[in-house]
Amino acid sequence: MIDGHIHIERGDYTLEWIEQFVNKAVEMEFDEIRLLEHCYIFEEFMPMYDSVCAHSEYVDDWFRRKAGKHRISEYLGLIEEAREQKYPVKIKFGLEICYFKEREAFIREMTKDKEFDFLLGSIHFVDGFAFDHKPEHWIGMDVDTIYRRYFEDSVSLAKK
Ligand SMILES: [Zn+2]
Repeated sequence: MIDGHIHIERGDYTLEWIEQFVNKAVEMEFDEIRLLEHCYIFEEFMPMYDSVCAHSEYVDDWFRRKAGKHRISEYLGLIEEAREQKYPVKIKFGLEICYFKEREAFIREMTKDKEFDFLLGSIHFVDGFAFDHKPEHWIGMDVDTIYRRYFEDSVSLAKK
């Protein structure tokens, strides 16, 4: 059994923290866990969010609280350390990347030649709109348009 989507962002980049996930996985009889970080955790990805921060004061505040806590090299260092351990469950390490169609080249550049086991594309913004934060943000939005654009972006993401 696999748990394929576990964020590690609530702890430090230490083996002690990773081992808590390993222990839980053993307890729950998982064979494999896939640990991942949101790309906005990393300083290097912050420029990708300029337009969504400019689009909304709420998103700008959220971003200032959450983003840029680490450098990618710190995460890669943790991954390397964890791979040297003999854990009783298989661990894969990945990155959850906010998909912005116009940033494909940037994303490719940021992720090439890195030792991630997997990359996961997610759509968290549609035309700059952060649709999954608060219900009241939908007031005055055209729901059909947002959904249509969400599916268009999903199709172009899937083609990558
Ligand atoms: Zn996630």
